[in-house]
Amino acid sequence: MALFDKCREFSRKVEHIKSLNQFFYLREVDPASTPRVSRHGKEFLMLGSNNYLGLTHHPKVVEATIKALREYGTGACSSRVLTGTTSLHNRLEQRLARFKGTEDAVLFSTGFMAMAGTVSTIAGEGDVVLSDEINHASIIEGCRLSRADLKIYGHNDMANLEEVLAACGPAQNKLIVTDGVFSMKGSVANLPEIRRLADKHGAAVMVDDAHGSGVLGEHGRGTPEYFGLEGKIEIVCGTFSKSFAAIGGFTGSTRDVGTFLRLNARPFIFSASTPPALCATVLACLDVLETEPDLLKRLHRNAGFVKQGLKDAGFTLEETITPIIPILVHDDEKTFRMAGLLDDDGVIVNPIVPPAVAKGGSLIRVSVMATFSEAELGEAVDKLKKAGRKAGVI
Ligand code: PMP
Repeated sequence: MALFDKCREFSRKVEHIKSLNQFFYLREVDPASTPRVSRHGKEFLMLGSNNYLGLTHHPKVVEATIKALREYGTGACSSRVLTGTTSLHNRLEQRLARFKGTEDAVLFSTGFMAMAGTVSTIAGEGDVVLSDEINHASIIEGCRLSRADLKIYGHNDMANLEEVLAACGPAQNKLIVTDGVFSMKGSVANLPEIRRLADKHGAAVMVDDAHGSGVLGEHGRGTPEYFGLEGKIEIVCGTFSKSFAAIGGFTGSTRDVGTFLRLNARPFIFSASTPPALCATVLACLDVLETEPDLLKRLHRNAGFVKQGLKDAGFTLEETITPIIPILVHDDEKTFRMAGLLDDDGVIVNPIVPPAVAKGGSLIRVSVMATFSEAELGEAVDKLKKAGRKAGVI
């Protein structure tokens, strides 16, 4: 097979899926992260963004970003290790450590790099990484790069985790890695039990709290706060690409781990640093989260409203305490049909089919933001009901 044959074949398949109106990827929308977006002049309700707190357009966040942009320009144009560390980077790292209750925090240029870079640098040949079966791809990539033994346990299946732990060699270093909030199902890791099993079997715990940070816990500090486990998880990672309105990631841990990552993690060393203005964005998001606690309450109120409306209409939902609302369809065709009907009706959702979920587990992933108006929430429920009925989901 010639080098590019696979690309030609793949491209034909994509064209075929597009001709069936079942291709819901790479859709152009402007500006992407607001409750209402547009495409070629048509308006859409955005039920597929991870901008949970709606901070991308918060006046204080935008102002802080513009101010830093004027002072620092658009990029630092160097790795953190060389000339790409500004006082904003250092301030943000200290602030994130406080936010997560860790001694130190290390910035990475994306969340993917934070997870993959941390796992691959901390675990090595001969170690074992125990990973939930639906953990994010960045964790799996990190495991591959680490050359550690990768052991997968069933999703939130604590009996299975214990079996896998017990089967590890007693002298092997063990790292249990889990998403805090699972991005597709909205389920929350059973962190108290993971902590207990880790202690019993001498393992360390790493949480990828991409979807938990700014969402869970009384102050939005994430899954460890929600479970009263702040300061009790060895490694807590997060991203800025959801509640923190930007792009980037971080790893919170001890000072020793921080120093080790800064001088050994290849995605940290060999990639340019986060644009300084984006550090100002995230610092402003953390300020707003602290000073405007009502935003977090609104997020959960809005999610509760949509969940109740959908349940009343007869949809089956994955039970979740997060703003990720998975409508279970269990049928790929119906999932695409419903997403297509919604697109026609001016609503953007994310149809999720295998391999992103297990076979037979297809779903419509709806996510809400704190900044939806009551009218928009009502419209969302009405349009989801209408499409659900037409597609035979309810
Ligand atoms: N972990 C999880 C659970 C995620 O959902 C994502 C983003 N989809 C990432 C890591 C990667 O983060 P980023 O998009 O900031 O690179």
